[in-house]
Amino acid sequence: MNKNLRKAVIAGNWKMNKTRPETLALINEIKPLAADAGCEVVVCVPFTNLETAVGAVKGTNIKVGAQNVHFEKSGAFTGEISADMLVEAGVDYVIIGHSERRRYFGETDETVNKRVKAALQAGLIPIMCVGELLWEREADITQEVVARQIKLDMAGFSSAEVKKTVIAYEPVWAIGTGKTATSEQAGEACGLIRSVIAKLHGKDTANAVTIQYGGSMNAQNAAELVAMPDVDGGLIGGASLKSADFGEIIKAASVK
Ligand code: PEP
Repeated sequence: MNKNLRKAVIAGNWKMNKTRPETLALINEIKPLAADAGCEVVVCVPFTNLETAVGAVKGTNIKVGAQNVHFEKSGAFTGEISADMLVEAGVDYVIIGHSERRRYFGETDETVNKRVKAALQAGLIPIMCVGELLWEREADITQEVVARQIKLDMAGFSSAEVKKTVIAYEPVWAIGTGKTATSEQAGEACGLIRSVIAKLHGKDTANAVTIQYGGSMNAQNAAELVAMPDVDGGLIGGASLKSADFGEIIKAASVK
């Protein structure tokens, strides 16, 4: 399938950064840079900035995402936010299973699976993160690790649910470290993910799924990474906080 028929998504993961006035200012800077984008542009902001962000992107092609979601609809889950709450807030996307959630907050493949399901059921687009640790890559088990995550995180999903999920391949050693996977490494891992999905759900489903690369993507390396046949855009941390850099990445992902 022609890669151009898939939706490339450039999503900024702002992590725990920016006040509400700063959110407004950064989105206002991004607006003109995203106006002619040939890809989907998403800003994933902290929960407290969602309302500001949703208001700021009105009338533009920029979508707003959250950075986590709980799998239950409501109840005694202190500190958590449900998928319906995000929908009510005007959110379209939600990052799930980011390596920082897995590492610092006990996120597991089982909870990632439940959260992605809940997000899909509510009509949100999940950005589901997978990726190997440095010692797993050095032990030459990247393929097994990533295949296992895909199988577990999407266990019990219909092909339609798989198609609606954006997958972010994020090698953990490349996140926030300034160490980027080479375009070959990124392309190979995204291709592996697509082949795992093809085995489970058939080629049509695999060819339709958006698979991003994430890990120190920036204005300089984006073009080479997003040009790889199996890489459909990126999930961007640090560089998404600088409008000029984010704009360059959007431009790189808009080239057909
Ligand atoms: C991320 O947080 O998903 C990420 C890829 O961060 P960075 O771009 O800073 O490596």
